[in-house]
Amino acid sequence: MVATPNSADSRPDSDIDAEGWLAAAERRPSPNQDARPPETTIDLLVIHNISLPPGEFGGDWIDALFHNRLDPNAHPYFAPIADVRVSAHLLIRRDGRLIQYVPCERRAWHAGVSSFEGRERCNDYSIGIELEGADETPFTEAQYIRLAACTRRIRQRYPAIGLERIVGHSDIAPGRKTDPGPAFDWARYRRDLGESRRDCSADLTPSSATLFENASKT
Ligand SMILES: [Zn+2]
Repeated sequence: MVATPNSADSRPDSDIDAEGWLAAAERRPSPNQDARPPETTIDLLVIHNISLPPGEFGGDWIDALFHNRLDPNAHPYFAPIADVRVSAHLLIRRDGRLIQYVPCERRAWHAGVSSFEGRERCNDYSIGIELEGADETPFTEAQYIRLAACTRRIRQRYPAIGLERIVGHSDIAPGRKTDPGPAFDWARYRRDLGESRRDCSADLTPSSATLFENASKT
């Protein structure tokens, strides 16, 4: 069956199949994926933002990029990135639509050169979620709702993704990447996940510690 946004949305978010496809997502498999290293425990979730061209929303260009069919002549920004082979597991559009490009059991190519707690190549062991957006532009209500829903399901399936192991791309590639950026409301995301501050008091990374300081002010 071909999943359309409507039929996919009517299914419960809780379903993730053996390969790691979310039932709620529209599937558009990207060729930019491969096997994770053997015996890999998936234990990191990376939040990104993307928009093509930067700051413009609603077009087909992200999909084109993840399927290696971005027209280098369509916009000046596209020429240098048209041959870059990238993907993410999931994309949440501005209207909350969820699109899956890579099943969670496979390795998507979203993090690039990266390191978390001294361990490099975060693509090997992480799941990447892209929010359609830009660093300085507020994300939508629909995106936060969808992000929290799919984060809960992913964590149920991959419980090694502790709260302190949900990070931004900028946390694992500092100086190189800035997303999801200052407009992403980490405190709200944490509240949406339904976790109290006390649940997360142990073993905080600097970024998540900042997160909770911010959360406590609101
Ligand atoms: Zn990113």
